[in-house]
Amino acid sequence: MAVLSKTLDGFQPSLIGEIFSLATRLKEAGRDIIDLSIGEPDFDTPEHVCAAAIAAIRRGATKYTSTDGTTALKRAVQTKLARDNGLDYGVDQIVVDSGVKPLIYHALQAVLDPGEEVIVPTPCWPSYGGMATLLRAATVLVPTAEQRGFKLAPEDLERAITPRTKVVVFNSPGNPTGAAYSADELSALAEVLLRHPQVWIFSDDIYEHIVFDGFRFATIARVEPRLQDRALTFNGVSKGYAMTGWRIGYVAGPRNAIDALRVVVSHNNGNPPSMSQVAAAAALEGPQDFLAERAASFQERRDLAAGLINAIPGLRCGLPEGAFYLYVNCGGTIGSRTPEGSRIETSGDLVRYLLNEAGVALVPGAAFSHDPYFRLSYASPREELEEAGRRLAAACGQLAMA
Ligand code: PLP
Repeated sequence: MAVLSKTLDGFQPSLIGEIFSLATRLKEAGRDIIDLSIGEPDFDTPEHVCAAAIAAIRRGATKYTSTDGTTALKRAVQTKLARDNGLDYGVDQIVVDSGVKPLIYHALQAVLDPGEEVIVPTPCWPSYGGMATLLRAATVLVPTAEQRGFKLAPEDLERAITPRTKVVVFNSPGNPTGAAYSADELSALAEVLLRHPQVWIFSDDIYEHIVFDGFRFATIARVEPRLQDRALTFNGVSKGYAMTGWRIGYVAGPRNAIDALRVVVSHNNGNPPSMSQVAAAAALEGPQDFLAERAASFQERRDLAAGLINAIPGLRCGLPEGAFYLYVNCGGTIGSRTPEGSRIETSGDLVRYLLNEAGVALVPGAAFSHDPYFRLSYASPREELEEAGRRLAAACGQLAMA
């Protein structure tokens, strides 16, 4: 009998997938569903970016490129890193890939051996752990506290590091919490990492441009230059520039890691889409002022959504520094009963109830390895958020507490 890879033993299907299928079935049955489960901006890709891609297609830039990206885009990335982050990398220290997602996987392939450990603070984007598992590495989940704004404490990082630790992942502003580390907070974590020279540092900066209340974005390679020989800084155009479908991500780091990564992508990738590379260069090199305008719009909607959530008994959330998510504590609803008499035991039960009862799609905390919470994406029009708030309040109001 043909058998499947043992690597997939114990791999659970994604809860996000389950909620998505349920929401799709309800929509197909004619239900009016407000989808607050999505992880992408509701803005359009800027017009000048689209125009650059169309012109590229017209002039025939539709062929293979170098597997690790065009020199033109790497130059644009180099300029961006110097301009926005104060980071000075050569073009040969940059690799472009079809999004940050495959890029992190390829970079993990370049540095990890089976059985080694990857430290991921939780709540976390599910793919870090999934990728480590696919590479037969062990994921060490380190919980962060809501009271600390879901930020990793230096002493918890120190405790989690073992001789088998190979990679620590940072994601700031983070998915699903929106928590962002200040330069001082990163500096305290860097102090720990300086004591462990075997550890690679992966900084996923994909939400860099979506920060609020004057927060100053910081990245660890800049905060602690002594870590630059083992820090990989990942970023892309998906979130800030509203280009999720274009599939462009990039990384900058030390030459040994970037050379190894280049070998990996030379085998795993054809190339990042040629016209998307032209578009990404136009995004990075073109006007940047709309980024702050869009962040301000997200900030207004963060405040609106948090106000609506905090008015609902049993739910609670803070005001995160960035991204476009609220990570809502739903502990106050656990143990309650629905009008039909079933018990809400987990955030998954609550999310299923809210989808069926209120027609609002959310993502349960189990997807991010941190419960009892759910993630709400507020990258939706204000009227939809207001209507979702009304429906959630009504549905939660019908829960009978134990
Ligand atoms: N990193 C984080 C933390 C994300 O939330 C996402 C998308 O949801 C990605 C990376 C994926 O980025 P890309 O679209 O560049 O693959």
